[in-house]
Order: sequence, then structure tokens, then C-alpha cells
Amino acid sequence: MHTMSKTPYVIGLTGGIGSGKSAAADRFAELGAAIVDTDAIAHALTGAGGQAIPAIRAAFGDAVITPEGALDRKAMRDRAFADPDERRRLEAILHPAIGAESAHQVGAARSPYVVLVVPLLVESGKYRERCDRLCVVDCPVEVQIARVMTRSRLPEEQVRAIMATQASREQRLAVADDVIDNGGDLATLIAQVDRLHENYLAAARAVA
Ligand code: ADP
Repeated sequence: MHTMSKTPYVIGLTGGIGSGKSAAADRFAELGAAIVDTDAIAHALTGAGGQAIPAIRAAFGDAVITPEGALDRKAMRDRAFADPDERRRLEAILHPAIGAESAHQVGAARSPYVVLVVPLLVESGKYRERCDRLCVVDCPVEVQIARVMTRSRLPEEQVRAIMATQASREQRLAVADDVIDNGGDLATLIAQVDRLHENYLAAARAVA
């Protein structure tokens, strides 16, 4: 028999803003799953000395880079908001870098299965292709809004504006293999993650 490097069993974890992706991922991590978080990767790439900084500086100039060498998120947001071309240019730098780094982290993971957290997973065919199963964290829109307003100190209008750019609850549920109902308390969320963890261990063993 020849030995091949096995691709890990990948669970795509998604949900709208404030649905509870991070809370669910934290529990999967406690249970021993490797977590690959595309938001965290984006932050690292654009933080001080991040790998995307040279390309961003070359494309947009020093005005969007802080003295510490990080992306000035507010300056960049203002420009990207004012000009869709600027937004697309930034995405053309970041998206391939996030895609490559997340693939690298998934490949390097040593846990029985990997949880790949992607806020816009349903919207992105590229990430869906990489997942063996899709797990959606779901909660009522009003609960989502209330939690984001508390967590991020954003006005309701702004939360609704962000949600309008994301897939709807119905669109996500239509493609979910598993659904975590996070309309209840955290203990209820944890119990559901614990159950899914057993299923994912079994599924990963079955294909190993
Ligand atoms: P996401 O990562 O999907 O944006 P988070 O996991 O950050 O969402 O959850 C949004 C906010 O709601 C956080 O402040 C989190 O602590 C809180 N939260 C998540 N799930 C629950 C829950 N079941 N009960 C109460 N608060 C919750």
C-alpha cells in the first residue's frame, strides 16, 4: 500500500452575523476540534506586519497603513465604501490570501475533523467545495440583531444593513446538512454542539 496524506474531514460552520458561530466554534474547540477561522485569518493578514500589508500598501498607498504597519481599517472602510472599485481591489488582494492560508491551516490540522468557520460560506462556492458537511447556526432575526447590538455596540439600523448583504436565514437553512438552533440559552447551544461532535467523529472515522 502506498501512503497518501489524508485530507481532513471538514465541517463548514456558518451563520449570519451574531448567530453564534464563535460561541459554537469555541465549544467545538473545547471538544478537541481544530478551528480554522477565516475572520481571524483576515485580521492576522492585515494586522501589524501581516502578510497582506505589502500588497495593500502598494495598491492603496501609505494613507491606509497605520504607523505600526497594520491596515488602518477605518481609512480603508471609508475608501471602500465610497468606491466599489477600491473595495474590489482590496478583495482581490485579501480573498486569495485568506483562501490559501485557510487551506494551509486545514491541511496542517491534526484533529479527527476540522471546523472551518466562514461567515459567508453559503454565498461562496469556493468554500462550500472544501467542506464535507455544512453546519448552520440559526436564530431568529430579532435575537440576532439584539445580540449584535449588545456585542458590537452598533445601532439596529447598521446591523440590519450588514444583514442585508448576507444570505437570508432561509437560504442558509436550505443548504445546511446540520442546523444548530441558537435561539435559546448557551447551555442549549452547547448540548447541540456536543451531539454534533459525536456525529462528526463517527463520520470522520467512516471515511478515514
Ligand atoms: P457570530 O460569531 O456568529 O457573529 P457570536 O458567537 O459572536 O456570533 O455571538 C454573538 C453574541 O451573542 C456574542 O456576544 C455571544 O456571546 C452572544 N451569544 C451567542 N449565543 C448566545 C446564546 N445562546 N445566548 C446568549 N448569548 C449568546
